[in-house]
Amino acid sequence: MTNASDDALKALIRDVPDFPKPGILFKDITPMLSNPDAFATVLDRISAHFSGPRAFDVVVGIESRGFIFGAALAARTATSFVPVRKPGKLPAAKDRVEYSLEYGTDALEMHKNSLHSGNRVLVVDDVIATGGTVCAAIDLVKLQGGQVVGAAFAIELGFLGGRKRIPEGVEVFSVLAY
Ligand code: AMP
Repeated sequence: MTNASDDALKALIRDVPDFPKPGILFKDITPMLSNPDAFATVLDRISAHFSGPRAFDVVVGIESRGFIFGAALAARTATSFVPVRKPGKLPAAKDRVEYSLEYGTDALEMHKNSLHSGNRVLVVDDVIATGGTVCAAIDLVKLQGGQVVGAAFAIELGFLGGRKRIPEGVEVFSVLAY
């Protein structure tokens, strides 16, 4: 078990103003990924939180930075990894859920038959902002009969209220809150 403090972790999150567009303060996780202790701490905190009664057997990672945390977490906990991707990326038959953005809509896709009923799923992404993305991923899991045990993030932008949009019964855990 590694043990970087919140302050040490936050020092490894780089704020990039006006990326990818004006007015967005982008939380860049790459300095944290390059620090083995910090990356391991994030994974350990998530796996410790989702143990015992909250245990999961499948990690659903959201493209693209959710793959980084999700795949590492799945390998570390000996669970399955299932990617949820942006439209047009997955090669085989897939399910699709659309969700609304400030202007227009976007969608996420998951290969059909990725899950079966009885799977206990943890949905993982790097950041939760407004919550629209993770809610679409949760809908995909439910569509395939999986039980969403929780949603885990390295970073929560609490002032955007995403947590409130996540359905009741889904345990929400963020390593770092802003
Ligand atoms: P949302 O659907 O609003 O919760 O946005 C979450 C998705 O957008 C995640 O996949 C994040 O990777 C990305 N995202 C949103 N805001 C930020 C931010 N300030 N910094 C980095 N990534 C962000």
